[in-house]
Amino acid sequence: MSKNEILKNSITAVQERVEAVQQPAAEEAKHLRGIAEETADLVCAFRDERNWKQFHNPKDLAVSISLEAAELLEVFQWSGEDLKCEGKLDKIREELADVANYCILMADACGISLDEIIRAKVKRNGEKYPVEKAYGKKDKYTELK
Ligand SMILES: [Mg+2]
Repeated sequence: MSKNEILKNSITAVQERVEAVQQPAAEEAKHLRGIAEETADLVCAFRDERNWKQFHNPKDLAVSISLEAAELLEVFQWSGEDLKCEGKLDKIREELADVANYCILMADACGISLDEIIRAKVKRNGEKYPVEKAYGKKDKYTELK
């Protein structure tokens, strides 16, 4: 198979995935359906059992997401050339879960569907980074030729 055929097959596969992802959302879908419903419910129940929803305004949740993302970044602080997860997975799991939990709570506070915004973002990114221009490149979309 030639390089052009491989590239064409890759583009077709990506286009099929994008089309599959762009299916219209069902009217009855809940706004947190991107995460397993039981998981989102668990996160919200944890908050509600402690009467913490009163503190969960969008600004403070955005601050919390950023702080937890910084804790995730801290896992790699001073790691030099060590870019692997080995030996760090427990801490990565913990901090990634903190980020994800706050993302769920932020989505809930704002009535946003994580599933919908992620799909929309992937679609927009696909337009900014078409496979034929971005394949194997790390350039910003404004620099792609
Ligand atoms: Mg944390």
